[in-house]
Amino acid sequence: MDRPLLNHRLAAFGTTIFAEMSALAQRTGSINLGQGFPDTDGPEEVREAAVRALRDGRGNQYPPGPGVPELRAAVAAHQQRFYGHLGLSYDPDTEVLVTAGATEAIAASLLALLEPGDEVIALEPYYDSYAACIAMAGGRRVPVTLRPSAETGTYHLDLDELRDAITDDTRLILLNTPHNPTGTVLSRDELAAVAALAVERDLLVITDEVYEHLVFEGEHLPLASFPGMRERTVTIGSAGKTFSFTGWKVGWVTAAPALITAVRSAKQFLTYVSAGPFQYAVAEALALPDSYFTGLRDDLRAKRDILAAGLADAGFGVYRPAGTYFITTDIRPLGAELSHEGDGFAFCRSLPERAGVVAIPNAVFYDHQDQGAPFVRFAFCKSVSVLEEAAGRLKRL
Ligand SMILES: *Cc1c(COP(=O)(O)O)cnc(C)c1O
Repeated sequence: MDRPLLNHRLAAFGTTIFAEMSALAQRTGSINLGQGFPDTDGPEEVREAAVRALRDGRGNQYPPGPGVPELRAAVAAHQQRFYGHLGLSYDPDTEVLVTAGATEAIAASLLALLEPGDEVIALEPYYDSYAACIAMAGGRRVPVTLRPSAETGTYHLDLDELRDAITDDTRLILLNTPHNPTGTVLSRDELAAVAALAVERDLLVITDEVYEHLVFEGEHLPLASFPGMRERTVTIGSAGKTFSFTGWKVGWVTAAPALITAVRSAKQFLTYVSAGPFQYAVAEALALPDSYFTGLRDDLRAKRDILAAGLADAGFGVYRPAGTYFITTDIRPLGAELSHEGDGFAFCRSLPERAGVVAIPNAVFYDHQDQGAPFVRFAFCKSVSVLEEAAGRLKRL
């Protein structure tokens, strides 16, 4: 048994930081602003819809492989409602695939579309499953780093850097907008430039748009709506973030038929199907009136503002997110001793003792860890009272 048990593709990844930090929160009785899940559940009528589906025997046995027809129709209707004016719509039978959350959609897309050795460009810092899934698919990740600007308190995509990262081995770009963890919402110009590069170099794009309804400034534009993109773009959505049911794990892919067929080929051997009764409930959720979606956004924007003000008050450099659940902060303004001289890991390990709050060091989302070292991420998808308490505690710093 000289050989390590864990294969070399996964050996680099270890256990996620979220496990360590959540355990630390528990042990110290800290407020956990590490992991991004809401502390209140989504709409009561959607929960009731799930109960009804369970009681009526809908979805208690294997649902159809592509997802229940009601949910596929609801996803197509949702895309038409929110993006039809951009010329984007999908056929519920051939262009929609239901998955076990966005996580499975990402994994299945990469496993389906990559050959070993293919290069995948992803915006760094990135969501933690990207690197592992690219590795499991035998791909090579090529990070393009989003650059922070302390003056504007925002992050930017350097389009020259993106262009230079593309080689003859590049198969696809894995995009995420609104972007976790930086809260960046890519602009129309940035997306148009990404689209033009993808067309010019004949690349596929997987675009993770799970925060599509959590945009506080500007607007969310699906990359698939740009010229030449519909045929080469796999778009991923999820009920977890849009309806505050992260435990249900209902996600979906919208794409042209050939891409859906490819992604389904991988998905069928991962989970095959999942979340039967919840699929019916999410179908009803997607049909909620526009006021639900704007209400969710306005609620989260107010929460962003509470936590951002508290963090600024406590002395952090605050990167104000245009979208998502997260605020990135720079710990350097807190002073060398307090901030462990820009070491986000050490800072996050000591923060529970010092202030009773848990956060995540952004370095875990980077290949170039030095680029993320002084940055720390806080989640604001929590009740107002929790955020106010956290802000009060952080003031002690
Ligand atoms: C939360 C999250 C996911 C995972 O979504 P699930 O539907 O819970 O699997 C994927 N991508 C990003 C960027 C996320 O923040």
